[in-house]
Amino acid sequence: MLIDIHCHANLYLVIDEIIKEAKSVGVQKIISVGMSVLSLERILEISNKYNIIYPALGIHPEEVKMNKDIIKQMDSVVDIIRKNKEKICAIGEIGMDHHFIKEIELYPPQKIIFENMLSLAQELELPVNLHTKGAEKIVFDMLPSYKIPNVNIHWYSGPEDYLNVGIDRGYYFSITPAIKYSPVVKKTVLKVDMEHILLESDGPVKYSGKISTPAMIREVLNIVSKYKDIPAEKLEDQIYENTKNIFPKIF
Ligand SMILES: [Zn+2]
Repeated sequence: MLIDIHCHANLYLVIDEIIKEAKSVGVQKIISVGMSVLSLERILEISNKYNIIYPALGIHPEEVKMNKDIIKQMDSVVDIIRKNKEKICAIGEIGMDHHFIKEIELYPPQKIIFENMLSLAQELELPVNLHTKGAEKIVFDMLPSYKIPNVNIHWYSGPEDYLNVGIDRGYYFSITPAIKYSPVVKKTVLKVDMEHILLESDGPVKYSGKISTPAMIREVLNIVSKYKDIPAEKLEDQIYENTKNIFPKIF
């Protein structure tokens, strides 16, 4: 059984087809992660409708650029998440981004949002799903101040020294279809032990121009299996156990 632990399922136009395709390759659970304020209700709605979809709620670091009112809306966002604490399996997608967000005046509000989300994860005793692009140092420096059950670093593509820090701290690293072409993602796969690897599509993000879907994680598994020289079936069982360890609420 495969589990896509990071997907923006609310963004697909024809979700029934996506789910059908996922099931046909053995994907049996999909975690749909939050992004914008507007996405939160939609994620809860689709997770009620489709039992394969499990919600995670949070505010993405790029929301500061899309939504100028986000800081004013923080209290109500925190309320929505608190109100749904029984339903959600993680706080995510949250983090910092200094790669796609170039405007340095947006960094302080981005940090405020992230601090709010980390505090909420601590309060609700939920794992976090983190975006760290271009902001690895600041994110990794902030994390030890919070008592959070488990950390998932999504699509890690940063410097090797922070990869090593994450490995030492026992973080879980989720691997995307970028494994097909990215040397940094390949390095992550080679360095992280098989007990800390997870699979994700980050759909509907595009890889080499192609819109991704949860079904693609079957191919990701096969490539990881080749790089790590572990039989695919054995790796599939191990990743299932890893997913259970970090996201127990979806089981
Ligand atoms: Zn994402």
